[in-house]
Amino acid sequence: MTSPGQFTYGFVPGWTILLVIACVAFALFAARVYRLYRYLRLGVSESRFGDNPERIRRFFAYVLGQRRMFRDPRAGPMHAVIFWGFIVITIGTVELLGRGFFGHFDIPLISGQAWFLLSVDLFEAAVILAIAYAFYRRLVSKPRRLMFSGQALVILSLILGLMVTALLAGGFRLAYDPAQSTHWAPITDAIGHALRGVGLTGGTADVLFQVFWWAHVCILFSFLVFIPYSKHLHIVTAPFNVYFSSIQPRGALAPIDFEATEDFGVGKVEDLSWKHLLDTYTCTECGRCDSVCPATQTGKELRPRSIILNLQHHLIEEAGPHDLAGSNGGDGAAHGAESVHPLLGGVISEQALWDCTTCRACMEECPVFIEHVPKIVDMRRSLVMMQSRFPPELNDMFRGLELAGNPWQYTNETRANWTQDLNIPVFEDRVPEDVEYLFWVGCYGSFDTRNKKVTVALATVLQRAGVTFGILGPREKCCGDPARRAGNEFLYQMLAAENVETLKGAGVRKIVTACAHCFNNLKNEMPQVGGRFEVVHHTELIAQLVESGKLQLDQAVEKTVTYHDPCYLGRYNGVYDPPRYVLEHVEGLNIVEMAKSRDKSFCCGAGGARGFMEEPAGQRVNEARVAQAEETHAETLAVSCPFCMNMFQDGIQGRGVADRLAGEDVAEIAEIASRPHDADRDSAERGRTASIP
Ligand code: SF4
Ligand code: SF4
Repeated sequence: MTSPGQFTYGFVPGWTILLVIACVAFALFAARVYRLYRYLRLGVSESRFGDNPERIRRFFAYVLGQRRMFRDPRAGPMHAVIFWGFIVITIGTVELLGRGFFGHFDIPLISGQAWFLLSVDLFEAAVILAIAYAFYRRLVSKPRRLMFSGQALVILSLILGLMVTALLAGGFRLAYDPAQSTHWAPITDAIGHALRGVGLTGGTADVLFQVFWWAHVCILFSFLVFIPYSKHLHIVTAPFNVYFSSIQPRGALAPIDFEATEDFGVGKVEDLSWKHLLDTYTCTECGRCDSVCPATQTGKELRPRSIILNLQHHLIEEAGPHDLAGSNGGDGAAHGAESVHPLLGGVISEQALWDCTTCRACMEECPVFIEHVPKIVDMRRSLVMMQSRFPPELNDMFRGLELAGNPWQYTNETRANWTQDLNIPVFEDRVPEDVEYLFWVGCYGSFDTRNKKVTVALATVLQRAGVTFGILGPREKCCGDPARRAGNEFLYQMLAAENVETLKGAGVRKIVTACAHCFNNLKNEMPQVGGRFEVVHHTELIAQLVESGKLQLDQAVEKTVTYHDPCYLGRYNGVYDPPRYVLEHVEGLNIVEMAKSRDKSFCCGAGGARGFMEEPAGQRVNEARVAQAEETHAETLAVSCPFCMNMFQDGIQGRGVADRLAGEDVAEIAEIASRPHDADRDSAERGRTASIP
């Protein structure tokens, strides 16, 4: 049957009407996209090229495969059906427009193929069902993470309109000309059959075919124009955003080159790189980030989605027009940007920035790979280093790191006091050749009373397994993680440089540490300042020792344990299995998982220097996590990071559940389980505790 584009309406050929509609739509689309592109160019340059195989893998897995979407078992399949349907139907649209313009038009290897006819037909129906479910979610079930959005309803209506008009146009085409029917388009065929059944045939069917064909075309081009003006801009930007997502180690923040700039951090939106600005265009407003953010979920001001959307609105509505007007020799007011609000403390609340624990849950969840944490830390950098505006509690931490090499201003000479009677070498010069590991103890493990017990337990386990190791003692300084995450990059780089010099000077090759933050820093961030070492987390090393038979965990420990994944071990470094492996090999231990575990783990509340700040608003994050542990009825909340241990000690006290729940490090459990059989457990336990200074 002839395409309506080939009909003549009055004296006007259909294809000229089609051409006018298409030209107007493409012009509006291109004008908006070009403007957004110019705003993007206001950002600072950043190289996001290289390692193309990994980028291509991500494109296939996360764009075409929609892998992240399936983290939400309900909305994921719905979105994937709409997305895949869109791809198939877009090919059908090319064919439709081609025939509208030229009459005969086939896409080689696709047009007329049975698989293609069937795919288009089934996807049109599947997308209608998915859209119906989307309406149900937005208007009836209303999940908390979804904001009410008129724009979203318009978009859903347009997509629904596209599918319905496509099916009806096809149905009326078959009602007019049954000879074209094919069982490879069963739904369209059934519609055509039904229309014939109610007498819609001949001229009526022909007219209605044309009506729905043109309606389809009009909706299609309206949709095209609407995309760059709406949150559905992500249809265009998401593939690029995923492709150009960071391939640096997840735990490494970008360093500042203090020689090359005098403007540190992000104090205005144009200080963000083009990729970070592209992030803001790509937000789908899905709210997945808010739904997993420990700050949002405990009633703090921070909403990661709002951070991204506020940056986007500020760029598009204020800073972008203002800057372009300025570069054209005009002024911002002439372009509707009478005043540009300050970014920090104006567009973005400072409190929201300080609420962040840098736990990375938002980034893990975001389906379009938006990078929240680097933006938040970059804005903190501007607040701290350019404006000296930060929570006053951080002053003590900064001063401690600067003057004493630890956050609490303890004299660093006492770092090795925990080793009393343990016969642990303190390296004053180089690490001897016959010593395999440097045990990087960390500040909590060296000074904090509770965490010193973990340090002793780990040292005991290593000694039992015959691992040769020693420590730096007073020569070890804080790795600088709290300073860096708090935005004090200058202080961080100072500490990192000192530590690298010490480690290199000592000839260190292998490092084991029981702190997830030190582990992340030594492994992922030290290479930025020239320190490349083989770094293992203590749970990884203990797991290796158990696996190789060097450590037996055959003393029964009869209790129920739930394991908490520290953000900087799990989400940042993918270490989920070794701690579980150790626990699973402890005789008698019953392990239960919390509802939020592994990459969905809920932060303890200490990361991002939050452990050194007050937390006056909302529920305490550590107590929220302890409550999740309580739900498992475990007696022990197992941890593998001193920051978590510290937070959970407080959280357990705060919730008044110390009589039924206790925090214990995996190393402590391994120490108890690996005690020699002939030793009296109680006296060994007393002796171990008594040896802690
Ligand atoms: S890193 Fe964690 S605390 Fe910060 S915004 Fe993301 S989810 Fe929230
Ligand atoms: S930042 Fe990502 S997860 Fe958050 S609302 Fe936007 S698209 Fe969704």
